[in-house]
Amino acid sequence: MAKLFYSEYAIENIARRVLTAYDPKLYYGKPAAIPIEDLIEANGLSLEYQYLRKNGRILGKTIFDDGLEAVYDMELHEYILFPVRAGTILIDASLCGEEANTGRFRFTCAHELAHWCLHKKLYLGTGESAALMLTAEETDMEFQANLLGSAILMPMAQVKRAFYQLRPGRDRRTLVADMACLFGVSKQAMRIRLEHHNLL
Ligand SMILES: [Zn+2]
Repeated sequence: MAKLFYSEYAIENIARRVLTAYDPKLYYGKPAAIPIEDLIEANGLSLEYQYLRKNGRILGKTIFDDGLEAVYDMELHEYILFPVRAGTILIDASLCGEEANTGRFRFTCAHELAHWCLHKKLYLGTGESAALMLTAEETDMEFQANLLGSAILMPMAQVKRAFYQLRPGRDRRTLVADMACLFGVSKQAMRIRLEHHNLL
């Protein structure tokens, strides 16, 4: 498959474009959690929740071509073929349960939206799909989807705004935790984003 490399600068710009096309307030307004599911649907994609693997190893998958996907049927205890249309994002149903981790669910959604934005031209017509595996080897495409996913959920302008508002009176740990909560991401994702931009 062809390779395509976007600079980090380009990735930040793509994130800003995706967010402002939906609602400029997401980038320029008050810092708040990005409505990632609405954003996905506004991009003409549909979200489907299925058990993608029996062992939960695949968290999400973006479908670029109409076809059939194997999903695990928890009642039948076997894989069944499920018809999917191009532009479907499959999210592992284990991420949607009540005690599931919201940060991981939202990050998986953002990662898959990022594949759609960055890689649909590469995948269209190949019959392949972009899957987020728990222990995937990090290819360039996965790395870039993670970068864009982070930039969508934690827009840089908003991160900086929140950082300078919340920093007074907070130690590093509390600051990261409160910012993670504000943006609806994991503490780890927030810490990486802040460190990467030399804010921590
Ligand atoms: Zn991926």
